[in-house]
Amino acid sequence: MSQNSAPSTTLQDIIAHAKEYGFVFPSSEIYDGLQAVYDYGQNGVELKNNLKQAWWKAMTQLHDNIVGIDAAIFMHPLTWKASGHVDGFNDPMIDNKDSKKRYRADQLLEGKAEEYTNLGQPEKAQALLTKMGALLSAEKLDEVRQLIIDENIVCPISKTSNWTEVRQFNLMFSTQVGSVAEDASNIYLRPETAQGIFVNFLNVQKSGRMKVPFGIAQIGKAFRNEIVARQFIFRMREFEQMEMQFFVRPGSEMEWYENWKATRLKFHQAIGLPASKLQYHDHDKLAHYANAAVDIEFEFPFGFREIEGIHSRTDFDLKNHQELSKKKMQYFDPDLGEDGKAIGNYIPFVVETSVGADRLFLATLCNAYTVETGEKERTYLKLHPALAPIKAAVLPLVKKDGLAEKAQEIANSLKSSFRTIYDEGGAIGKRYTRQDLIGTPFCIAVDYETMENGTVTIRHRDSMEQERVAITDLKEKIGYAVSMERILEEI
Ligand code: ATP
Repeated sequence: MSQNSAPSTTLQDIIAHAKEYGFVFPSSEIYDGLQAVYDYGQNGVELKNNLKQAWWKAMTQLHDNIVGIDAAIFMHPLTWKASGHVDGFNDPMIDNKDSKKRYRADQLLEGKAEEYTNLGQPEKAQALLTKMGALLSAEKLDEVRQLIIDENIVCPISKTSNWTEVRQFNLMFSTQVGSVAEDASNIYLRPETAQGIFVNFLNVQKSGRMKVPFGIAQIGKAFRNEIVARQFIFRMREFEQMEMQFFVRPGSEMEWYENWKATRLKFHQAIGLPASKLQYHDHDKLAHYANAAVDIEFEFPFGFREIEGIHSRTDFDLKNHQELSKKKMQYFDPDLGEDGKAIGNYIPFVVETSVGADRLFLATLCNAYTVETGEKERTYLKLHPALAPIKAAVLPLVKKDGLAEKAQEIANSLKSSFRTIYDEGGAIGKRYTRQDLIGTPFCIAVDYETMENGTVTIRHRDSMEQERVAITDLKEKIGYAVSMERILEEI
């Protein structure tokens, strides 16, 4: 028997599976969908909630000095002035005049660099990226356009290089608050959750009597008007972020940065992403707020791409909020310095970990999707048991002779401990297959022997092995295997 998942799995396989088995649907599909917006179905929402719970617990339960908040999506407009998003949250876009298709200029050049790398010319690739970085930083957009032309980059649809000029496009969505047009003021849908944490920094620090170093975690929606959004839930216009801002003493930020880099990689491995499909990617071009930045990348069917960013954000955000709000953002550090006096007031530095819940979902799904070929073909989702939408399915061998009632009774007795379903429809083999396709780790079969001696068989999803166990042992046996503890213990 041979097994394969990515790389021979394509994104199309994943999209089709996600739709067919209730994980992800295109948004408002009956109206032909809305580009780059997706809905999670009955199994998808469970998997996503489990991922969010794993992250939340890994942050707040495993660390005494990290607490969570849930800030609003709407924020005072000055927030986005202070954060730099009003002036700087832009992507360079370019249109092809023949196909009328829009592209991100940086992505066209990155694609070319990837081509050079694949052709065994990594130096040429690096030189191109360096040049692009320099031109973009200097806002030399006409030269970025020239670079695209010089590199003979053509539109994949029209195959021409009939390009417009390059323009900066702000990614924030805006809307109005207030019922009367004259009173209405423009506000933004937040493009990241981080700012909700920064503006609450002192509220949390004071009300929670938090001492630096400490962190604030948050899970929530973010919105970006992405220019090119063609990779399923990898790049959406409405998505969910899981961010944690860790406030540290200035000067200690690099130590914490290294620390979080390692801890976050461990998290991804603990939820089941193999080390061989994860890598760090240091940023060549640092964002306006960062003095160090790295991405954790996962190998999707379309290559290694970012799932999480870890940034050392200095005191950029708090300092700017202090300036615009005229409210002090300082922390009083009571610890003693080398001179024996209290260190006193300072604006903390921040190390941020920022992961997309949807990208983590896609990585998890791509990694779990397994096709076994050979004598008997089988497709199943090899999800970590704690992440699986359904933990156990109870299946009576036949409906008659009291087996159905017995199976229902067992399912009911397990429901309060973990998500259990009862299924009596169709041949038992078909029912196993249905559970395999959504990643249910345990199938419990109720047969005639059950009626005689109170035992059932447990069929294990990955090995398909069956073992006979007493009904009275089910709760404990399955309960631990599917618990979040299993993930948290690995971090
Ligand atoms: P990219 O370079 O891919 O646009 P980014 O560097 O702008 O991503 P960050 O601003 O660092 O992303 O956001 C942190 C995380 O949020 C990313 O690692 C990603 O997982 C997630 N994320 C960002 N934009 C999107 C999006 N449009 N759709 C889904 N997830 C996103």
